[in-house]
Amino acid sequence: MITRLLTALVCLLALLPAAALRALELQGPLVQGGVVVGRVAPGTPVTLDGRRVRVSGEGVFVIGFDRDSPATHTLVAGPDKRALAIKPRTYDIQKVTGIAQRIMEPTKADLERIAREQALIDRARATDDARADFAAGFRWPITGRISGVYGSQRYYNGVPSRPHYGVDVAAPVGATVRAPAPGLVTLAEPDLFYSGGTVIIDHGHRLSSSFLHLSKVLVKVGQRVEAGDVIAQVGATGRATGPHLDWRMAWKDARVDPQLLAGPMPPAQAPDHATGGAK
Ligand SMILES: [Zn+2]
Repeated sequence: MITRLLTALVCLLALLPAAALRALELQGPLVQGGVVVGRVAPGTPVTLDGRRVRVSGEGVFVIGFDRDSPATHTLVAGPDKRALAIKPRTYDIQKVTGIAQRIMEPTKADLERIAREQALIDRARATDDARADFAAGFRWPITGRISGVYGSQRYYNGVPSRPHYGVDVAAPVGATVRAPAPGLVTLAEPDLFYSGGTVIIDHGHRLSSSFLHLSKVLVKVGQRVEAGDVIAQVGATGRATGPHLDWRMAWKDARVDPQLLAGPMPPAQAPDHATGGAK
């Protein structure tokens, strides 16, 4: 009798929904441009606004909110349904002058090149990998003065343009750029029309980092990098008016704010001109 009762109890426990054993946990700011890392019991299905979100074998997932994200989203994790209130932000207006006429008014050949390059970028950013490298957290790829922030409305030579999605860090040409988190290199191009030397690192689950205007690319497509590995050198290539690192991040189609992941900029250091050890 006791054995039968125990068996019944064990069966009952086994039937409990997995999420009851580990409640949904969310870490990160619920704000436009924010990235949130979630944890659920392994095997719990997760959707955001009805679209399936990849969950790792350990129950880790990531979601992100675009610059102009609507105010509410619905997150469902197993039986747990939550309305997420996304805080709106106001964005700066930034006027950039001195962009070369060639860049402002691309020729027909330039436009073909731009389309080819965009296809490469789209393919790299479409990588949907089961690695949860983002769960390790993020550090600044370089230290220095922040000269441009996420989301600002840009005017190039007085012409309104798309918002700026990156965080710009002023640094001299040749300064070392390091991987902000582990990942896989999905694009390594020395000279794209708009972004010049460009590297994209995939951090898993469709969260990626892009590094623009590089003078030197020191990684190859398919290469695994760890946080802090040297990946490139700062430059002023493509549509840039001076040397700086432009770091952008995306989750699926949402452009997210790297600064929210990296946190406060560490105190200024002497420019990092590491030579050896570049991979
Ligand atoms: Zn920039």
